[in-house]
Amino acid sequence: MPRLVIVSNRVALPRQTSTGGLGSAMHAATQTEGGLWFGWSGKLAERSGASLHRQRHGEVDYVTIDLSRADHDQYYAGFANRALWPLLHYRAGLVEYRRANMEGYLRVNELFADTLTPLLEPDDIIWIHDYHLIPLGAMLRGRGVANRIGFFLHTPLPAAGLLIALPRHQELLGSLASCDLIGLHTDRDQRALEDYFLHEAQATLLPDGRLQDRAGARFRIQAFPISIDTRKVARQAERAGRSPKIQQLRDSLGDRAMVIGVDRLDYSKGLPERFKAYGQLLDRNTELRGQVSFLQIAPHSRDTVPEYRQLRHQLERSAGHINGRYAEPDWTPISYVNRSFPHQLLTGYYRVARVGLVTPLRDGMNLVAKEYIACQDAHDPGVLVLSRFAGAARELDSALLVNPSDTEEVTEALETALTMSLKERRERWQPMYEHLCRYDVSFWRNSFLDTLRQQSPATDQEAADPAAATGRPAAVGSAAAPGPHSSHSRLAKRPVLPESPR
Ligand code: UDP
Repeated sequence: MPRLVIVSNRVALPRQTSTGGLGSAMHAATQTEGGLWFGWSGKLAERSGASLHRQRHGEVDYVTIDLSRADHDQYYAGFANRALWPLLHYRAGLVEYRRANMEGYLRVNELFADTLTPLLEPDDIIWIHDYHLIPLGAMLRGRGVANRIGFFLHTPLPAAGLLIALPRHQELLGSLASCDLIGLHTDRDQRALEDYFLHEAQATLLPDGRLQDRAGARFRIQAFPISIDTRKVARQAERAGRSPKIQQLRDSLGDRAMVIGVDRLDYSKGLPERFKAYGQLLDRNTELRGQVSFLQIAPHSRDTVPEYRQLRHQLERSAGHINGRYAEPDWTPISYVNRSFPHQLLTGYYRVARVGLVTPLRDGMNLVAKEYIACQDAHDPGVLVLSRFAGAARELDSALLVNPSDTEEVTEALETALTMSLKERRERWQPMYEHLCRYDVSFWRNSFLDTLRQQSPATDQEAADPAAATGRPAAVGSAAAPGPHSSHSRLAKRPVLPESPR
């Protein structure tokens, strides 16, 4: 079996608390596949890449390098997080492009390519992750790497009209054509990237659904919605639900319903809008005062970026305002916590919460939404209030779907969720849970890697006459096997008798 080589900005070492979707999902994925995981150590050093840090845990070799302060600031904090992140989350107004940062970004990608190339074996399957490493596949090809290369983008992808606002976008995004397979979370993201290549990068569509760029590179773009280890998370939640800590939480809540939000502190997560909707709920529904508690867990991320610091202050003010206005000596309306929590404990919190409130303005997938569903008690499940603009909404369509910018709509959805009958809660939850059991993180990993393995180099005949190669009309991104999106009908609301899945 060929070795799997994963490359991402950060690696998630076992037993490390990971507060990101990529870390959670890849950690679950490597546990079965094994292989090599390469990335930045998260540490700064005098010189970038001066030495390799190697550790082996189980079947996985973790190899990391340090970065210099300048490389960190330009590649990571600068270009990746101040230009690409806002752009990919549709926030053109927050994009800060600096030529020096782009140079730093390309430099660190070159360093990754230089360091990784000698570690590769001819049969390795290479899987590159996320917006930090967009040009890496092309740089590896430039060093003679002929292995299968897949790339997965963990963020959303906006329409071509927005992408072209980025200086040197063709150089950057066009380089993805060097990969054999480009995976995104949703069919919407897939269409956006295909559209970009067809209309902004002069690529052509081949009869088998792949694209070909002007240099003749052939590649496939396809949606693979990332997921969670559903049954494992469900078992964790059941166990955590019986733990003393969670029992203590239940005791302190008494008859109150708990609403939970869990998000990295990021402007894409729609937290100010969410706090506003909750404040509005207490304002207009006086009966709910004292009957509901909102726990918002929001660990800090990227503290060096000014927008994140501003957001932090804004949320502190907003939570203080809500508590100042409505709190009683024996009731705190909102608990706003900036620490991160171990995943296991989090599953217990999800299980206790009557409502999962997941309202990002834009999100690639949002694993918290999926985890919330996985953690519910089949006999008494809670309700998920979910933003239409999270990738997860394409699958979890029995949730109460909202536009997070429409505060009234979120407030109404909260009210509906808090008063929903047990029958309706079960009817909504059951198909979502079944869907997640079927389309879990193993399905995601296997379908991506199987599709990557199937990508064969173009033959001369195909290059000369693409139609002759397959003899069928072109279909953009035609998928080989039915995937999570094609199962939408399975999520249609239908009454299903609750049978304990765990
Ligand atoms: N998470 C965690 N502890 C925390 C906060 C978050 O383990 O205190 C986990 C959470 O359970 C989820 C991941 O971090 O698995 C967040 O992934 P998501 O896709 O929701 O968001 P991202 O941070 O990748 O944008």
